[in-house]
Amino acid sequence: MSENPSNRTIPSMESLVTLCKRRGFIFQSSEIYGGYAGFFDYGPLGAELKRNVKDAWWKALVHERDDVLGLDSSIIMHPQIWKASGHVDGFADPMVDCKESKKRYRADQLFFAPVRVDGETIGYVSVEEADDMQAQADEKASELKRKLGRQGNLDPVVLQEYTEALPEEYALIPSPATGKPGSLMEPRQFNLMFETKVGPLADASAVSYLRPETAQGIFQNYRNVVDTGRVKIPFGIAQIGKAFRNEITPRNFIFRSREFEQMELEYFINPDDATWPEVYRYWIDWCKNWLVSVGIPADMVGEDVHPAEKLSHYSKGTTDLTFKFPFGTQELWGIACRGNFDLTQHQQHSGKSMEFFDEARKEKYIPHVVEPSLGVDRTILAILTAAYTEDEVPNDKGAPEKRTFLRFAPQIAPYKAAVFPLLKNKPELVETARKLYEQLRRRWNIGWDVSGAIGRRYRRQDEIGTPYGITVDFDTIEKDQCVTIRDRDTTEQVRIALDQVESWLAERIG
Ligand code: ATP
Repeated sequence: MSENPSNRTIPSMESLVTLCKRRGFIFQSSEIYGGYAGFFDYGPLGAELKRNVKDAWWKALVHERDDVLGLDSSIIMHPQIWKASGHVDGFADPMVDCKESKKRYRADQLFFAPVRVDGETIGYVSVEEADDMQAQADEKASELKRKLGRQGNLDPVVLQEYTEALPEEYALIPSPATGKPGSLMEPRQFNLMFETKVGPLADASAVSYLRPETAQGIFQNYRNVVDTGRVKIPFGIAQIGKAFRNEITPRNFIFRSREFEQMELEYFINPDDATWPEVYRYWIDWCKNWLVSVGIPADMVGEDVHPAEKLSHYSKGTTDLTFKFPFGTQELWGIACRGNFDLTQHQQHSGKSMEFFDEARKEKYIPHVVEPSLGVDRTILAILTAAYTEDEVPNDKGAPEKRTFLRFAPQIAPYKAAVFPLLKNKPELVETARKLYEQLRRRWNIGWDVSGAIGRRYRRQDEIGTPYGITVDFDTIEKDQCVTIRDRDTTEQVRIALDQVESWLAERIG
């Protein structure tokens, strides 16, 4: 565990990955065959968590608003779509190979610097992108100076992206894999789209793609939604679904994988210069508030505004909401003002009009768009990071014991509560507990656990983030018709009448 500036404790990646595997949240895909890099499976609890995250987004955006409609488009679409969108020609990352280790790097995530002593270059160092890469590079530079036995002062080590290296420098920059120069190649563009073939003919005309984003499914259906949905500008179309990218370096667990899910909104607005900045700010704030609503503390979320010179030619502005992941601060949610680039491209390539007749303004135009685009899996990783907590609580004998628990927001928690009969071999306890369990599970996903001491059962539920543990004991059946409800975070216990449990829970978990 490490402390971040806001004094929040951030778990190590290892503790999250281990907990996810041990408790059935997330597994490496194809594990029995040694795994498959960049692919993950959600186990029984992970599947619940994922559904809850997607439902929360859909409810807030589609069900609770008048101006957003939902869509579920196909994964494989006409290949012309990816030509029009620019993905066939430009959806590529710069890739660099190390001849010796056969490792591949993303050239924009590989950094190098000349090492200079009193102005004279004595060699190069390289590091992979990380929060502490400057410190790593400084250390490597000092080591090189020591190794070469050089006297004098080390000049500041100024890191640059490998994409900015001069051709004559390629052979001088050491590979991070081997630590030696001479094996890194010139960067080349690598298209991230997965190709497939559609239909019985295996020729070039059959080439198609797995969608690398859900957004184009929205743009190609924009006309259909306008024609059938009776919409007025501004309005949005929201979609949740799988996306596929043949990432050069999938890493950091579910943060960067090759198959993932996105939740994307295209919010269509009029083309006035004054409109987009307001809508842009509105969606940035909306997104931040939504993250808080699913249990991501505001102080772990930052805003990274892309500088004008890094924007694509059509983009008016892009802001990433970042999150403090265990491996550093990284993009979680991108909010982009894309002008009317996508619809204009589809109008040109398809020959179909994308113009909208604005009744209020009595004019026709191709709407502009603000696009908040969020990864489901990255959101889950952020939720797990924020929820992971360690503390000490008394065990069954009253002695302090370390516990790990997930402080999930009730809306997101896989189980909202779990019911336990105090003893599993007392039919009257089991029968009453079972009746309560069956009543509650009609409304929520509820856990059931009969084995082990009650303290252990609480601990097991704590570890998977169940907000409440409900115990049926002898007093329940012999005396007061009440149960004990224990709060996951405070471990405090209250007695609640059996017939009040459902409404008591409803008040707290919605
Ligand atoms: P990056 O720079 O990290 O590759 P990007 O800027 O290409 O990401 P976008 O195209 O803006 O990402 O995708 C929108 C969102 O989809 C991202 O903010 C992220 O949450 C999610 N996402 C993108 N690529 C991946 C991936 N390989 N694995 C998991 N989620 C992803």
